Amino acid sequence: MPPADKEKKKTSGKEALTSFQTPKGMRDILPDEWPLFDKVVGAAKSIGEFYNFSRIDTPIMEQADLFARGVGLGTDIVEKEMYVFSTKGGDRLALRPEYTAPVMRSYIQHGMSHLPQPRRLWYTGPVFRHENPQSMRYRQFTQFGLEVLGSADPVFDAEVIIGFYRLLDELKVKGVSIEVNSIGCKTCRPAYRKKLTEYYRKQDVCEDCRVRLETNPLRLLDCKNPKCQPLKEGAPSILDNLCQNCRQHFRQVLEYLDEARVPYVLNPRLVRGLDYYSRTVFETFVEGEDAALASGGRYDYLAEMIGGRPTPAVGGAAGIERIMEVLRNKGIVPAGKIKGKVYLIHVGEVSKKKSLSLVEEFRRAGIPLVNELSKESLSSQMELAAKNNAPLTLIFGQKESYEDSIIIRDMESGVQEVVPLSKVIEEVKKRLK
Ligand SMILES: [Zn+2]
Ligand SMILES: [Zn+2]
Repeated sequence: MPPADKEKKKTSGKEALTSFQTPKGMRDILPDEWPLFDKVVGAAKSIGEFYNFSRIDTPIMEQADLFARGVGLGTDIVEKEMYVFSTKGGDRLALRPEYTAPVMRSYIQHGMSHLPQPRRLWYTGPVFRHENPQSMRYRQFTQFGLEVLGSADPVFDAEVIIGFYRLLDELKVKGVSIEVNSIGCKTCRPAYRKKLTEYYRKQDVCEDCRVRLETNPLRLLDCKNPKCQPLKEGAPSILDNLCQNCRQHFRQVLEYLDEARVPYVLNPRLVRGLDYYSRTVFETFVEGEDAALASGGRYDYLAEMIGGRPTPAVGGAAGIERIMEVLRNKGIVPAGKIKGKVYLIHVGEVSKKKSLSLVEEFRRAGIPLVNELSKESLSSQMELAAKNNAPLTLIFGQKESYEDSIIIRDMESGVQEVVPLSKVIEEVKKRLK
């Protein structure tokens, strides 16, 4: 038997036990990544709270029909990317591929229209799309979103766009540009759709677009196929075909963005794939990055599409992992030295035991403290303290533990001082200032 086979045979049983992996396209968020994750989510949260949005969350599963009706049957999300399954009770559920339809479902279900309008809601949580996993396009990823429900005022379209712009600004992302467009309303869109269809019928479009011509002609403008790129140039522009009300609405949105000094460019070919959008749509890009970091738009018809009363609304969402990737690519995140905590070193059994109550005293005083009670040697604990970037180290030696005192060592200067145990919190606070 060749050695390789022998090796294989010997370990095959073991391999079977250790070969579990994350599902394809999904990933663990390991401890190293959490500081950055928390930083992005923290910034998002502070933006939501500053602009007076209240937090909402919905279950990760919904009736699959909510998305079929709300997001639309002709869309990639619903046709190809949704995780749909039947429960033992016979319900057809879907892992949420986006938050907007669930948030509107919740608004209707809980009668939020009876509260003062509009309702401003923010959320963050996982969404699921069964896409081909490319770089950073995970099948489970995290979204942050802002939704304003119950008002048709264009100021809220601007407020949502400004919210995402400020989020990226807060995270020090430079070179942000926002593409905006209006895709019209029930009054003006049918005529435009007809013009667009007439134009594209005369062109040699790709296979996908031939289907789009029948199901969702607006999405012809969204086609990424090189064959269809040059055709976009000659296509009729939606901005030339808006009705009076849509034109007025869009003009006001742009005026508010000007006033807020948010840089934007008009992109008459921006349509967004989902059925529920009307009027304003936007996508936020960063120089040198292909995919949008945040996107959204107005969705005045969604409430009716899912069985509610007419409820004008606008919102958008950003991908947390995408933003993290941009921060890493641009080197905006310093290769993370986390601010060190006070490090407690013990020597001997008495000191180890007394350390337990000392840790509690620090917790009550609100001073973050680290210790490693399983380590016994002074030098290995000193090493850990240095590695942890601790500004101060407390050395609770054998002698000290009997005398109820403790050594405070300033890690930068190396200066040590013995203080009574009863005074240690006070003394540490003084030095941390
Ligand atoms: Zn219109
Ligand atoms: Zn095409």
